[in-house]
Amino acid sequence: MADVDPALLKRKRKRRRIIVYGTLIALIWGFWLWQPWEYDFIMRAQPHPHPKVDPDSSSLFAKGTKVLIVTAHPDDSEFYVGGTLAKLRDAGAEIWQVIITEGDKSYYGPFTDAAKNREVRRKEALEAARSWGGKNLVILGYPDGRLKNSERLVQRLQVEFEKFQPDYVLAFDYDYPPRMSHKDHRIAGQAVSIAVEKATSVKWLMRFSTAYPNYVVDISDYWPEKETMLKIHKSQFGGKEDRIVNMVEDRAVTDGEVIGTTYGEGFRVIKLR
Ligand SMILES: [Zn+2]
Repeated sequence: MADVDPALLKRKRKRRRIIVYGTLIALIWGFWLWQPWEYDFIMRAQPHPHPKVDPDSSSLFAKGTKVLIVTAHPDDSEFYVGGTLAKLRDAGAEIWQVIITEGDKSYYGPFTDAAKNREVRRKEALEAARSWGGKNLVILGYPDGRLKNSERLVQRLQVEFEKFQPDYVLAFDYDYPPRMSHKDHRIAGQAVSIAVEKATSVKWLMRFSTAYPNYVVDISDYWPEKETMLKIHKSQFGGKEDRIVNMVEDRAVTDGEVIGTTYGEGFRVIKLR
């Protein structure tokens, strides 16, 4: 057998390494772009100053107060602020809801039936909203997991603000989201922040799913109801119901600790006018 040129062998190995590692990096990069979550490698610093703020609680939890909640997905309201919504209902507030996407991706697998998901998730959202007394539910119908900020989205939110003339708006925290959160949540929060500037009826913006709450609603009496609400969204559990409920409960306990109650829901509230 003739001797193989060692230089040629070296070049061949080098080329193979480039192909293998290059493919691996491209795959990881592609996955990172495709998946719908965002992760802050450097945690955003706490706002400064960061005092506790009361968004006129006695006006918030009062008969006839108009509250609009804007979420990205059909289950967000119950997961993040289900207890607060139930408490608002009992206080006699009028609550409307806008859901920006249709929740058609479910687990974002390649073989999900989008039409079926849309139908299932609309039903779940309606049932959940009925439980906390939602008066009006609007689904804007943007694609789940692929939300982009656009002028059109802001305008469509403004139309809803105009129709309802809310006193309070509840939305995702865009400026200080948790370290890891869904991209749709961040974009939904950003669009609301822009849309609300022109909505002169809105006195307070209450941002949920926030890394730095400055106001906590005591939901101790509403935890069992919140748990029931979560379970309405059966399509979202994928056999991990207990784990997900525990996760939400942990969050509620952590928020409750801030105000010395068993359970709480934290917000970063901002006075607009
Ligand atoms: Zn969501």
